Amino acid sequence: MSIAEIDLHSALKKHFGFSQFKGLQEEVIKNVVAGNNTFVIMPTGGGKSLCYQLPALIAEGTAIVVSPLIALMKNQVDAIRAVSEHEGVAHVLNSSLNKTEVARVKDDITSGITKLLYVAPESLTKEEYVDFLRTVKISFMAVDEAHCISEWGHDFRPEYRNLKTIIKRIGDDIPIVGLTATATPKVQEDILKSLGMPNAVTFKDSFNRPNLYYEVRPKTKTVDADIIRFVKQNEGKSGIIYCLSRKRVEELAQVLQVNGVKAVPYHAGLDAKTRVKHQDMFLMEDTDVVVATIAFGMGIDKPDVRFVIHHDIPKSIESYYQETGRAGRDGGEGHCLAYYAYKDIEKLEKFMAGKPVAEQEIGHALLQEVVAFAETSVSRRKFILHYFGEEFDNETGEGGNMDDNVRHPKKQVEAKDDVRI
Ligand code: ADP
Ligand code: MG
Repeated sequence: MSIAEIDLHSALKKHFGFSQFKGLQEEVIKNVVAGNNTFVIMPTGGGKSLCYQLPALIAEGTAIVVSPLIALMKNQVDAIRAVSEHEGVAHVLNSSLNKTEVARVKDDITSGITKLLYVAPESLTKEEYVDFLRTVKISFMAVDEAHCISEWGHDFRPEYRNLKTIIKRIGDDIPIVGLTATATPKVQEDILKSLGMPNAVTFKDSFNRPNLYYEVRPKTKTVDADIIRFVKQNEGKSGIIYCLSRKRVEELAQVLQVNGVKAVPYHAGLDAKTRVKHQDMFLMEDTDVVVATIAFGMGIDKPDVRFVIHHDIPKSIESYYQETGRAGRDGGEGHCLAYYAYKDIEKLEKFMAGKPVAEQEIGHALLQEVVAFAETSVSRRKFILHYFGEEFDNETGEGGNMDDNVRHPKKQVEAKDDVRI
C-alpha cells in the first residue's frame, strides 16, 4: 500500500467512520484527487456522495457541489458538519440566505475553512456569486444527479443546461466530477457532452441487483384481488404499491384496508402533515404497505422493503429500475411485481399529448422500451442490464434465475422452421 492509499483509508475512517471503501469509490477518489475530470455511474445507494466529499475534505480549496434538491443538500451539509470541528466546513448557498449569512459563507470560503459548497444550479446564475467564486481557490466542481442535464433522463432540469458555461466562467481549468445513477448510454453521452468533458475517466458500477426477483403479470379486471392475495401471502412484510393516479392510490389503499391489510395512501395531493405521518408509519412499521404515486420514495431509506408492486406500468425502464430498487436494500428478498396491459401504455401516451414534440418523441421511445420489457420472453434481468449497457449471462451472473421468464420460460409460440430471429 502506498502512502497515498493509507492516507485515503485513514481519511475515510476519520471523516466518515468507515473502514472500507464501497465498490469503485477508492479508484474514483484517487482520480478526483489527481485533478482529472471524472464521471461516476453507480446505482442509487452505491455511495456516490463520498466520491466527492472525501476528496473535497482533503483537497486544497473549496469544492462546489451542484445538486438539484435543497432538502438533500441540507441533509448532506448537516451530516458533514456533525463529524467536523468547524461548522463552516460545509455550506449551502441559495436564495434563502440573507446578506449577513451570505457574507459569513464568503468569509468561511475565503479563509479556507469551507471544503464543500453546495449550490442549486439556479443560484449559480447569480452574477454576484460567480464573480466571487472566480476570486477563490476551487478544488473541483461536482455535479450530482448529472442526468438532470439530459432530456433523455427521467428528471430533466433546464437550469442544468448552463452549467458548462458557468463552470468555465468560474475558472478555465476546474476539474469536473459528474455523478449519476442513470446508466443508459444515451444519457451518459449527453452528460459528457453537456458538461464539456469528453475525456473524463468513467467509472461504472454494475446495476445488477441479484436479490431482486422480477415478475410481470398481465393486468386484468381481477388485478386488485390479485394484489390483495399477494399482500396477504406476504403478511407482516413491508411493501410499496405504485399507482399512476392519486385516485387509484386512495381506492386501492381503501380496498386493502377493508381486506384487513395495514395500508396507507401517499401522494402529493395529501397535506404535508398526512404525508409525513404516513411515511413515518411505514418507517416505524405501523403500517405494512404504502400505496403511492411516484411522489413516494425519493430519499426514503427503508432497508427491509420486501416487495414493490406496480399496479400501473411506469413510463420508462429507468423509473421502473429506480422504483423497484427500493426493495431489498438490505440484501434480503425483494419481489418486484408489475402489472401490464397495453391500454395503460396508451394512457401514458395520451398524457404526453400536450407536450412539445421533441419531448413527446423521447417519451414515446422510452415507452416502447417499457413495452418491449413487459412483453419480452427473455430474462427480465438480462433485459434491464442490457438497457443499461451491461452484458449479463444468466448462467454465470448473480441472480441469473431470479425472474419469471427464467423460472417459467414461455412456450415459443411462433416456433416455425422458417422464422429467424
Ligand atoms: P448514492 O448517492 O450513490 O445514492 P449515497 O452517497 O447516498 O449513495 O450513499 C448511500 C449510503 O451508503 C449512505 O448511507 C452512506 O453513508 C453509505 N456509504 C457510503 N460509502 C460507504 C462506505 N465506504 N462504507 C459503508 N457505507 C458507505
Ligand atoms: Mg446521491
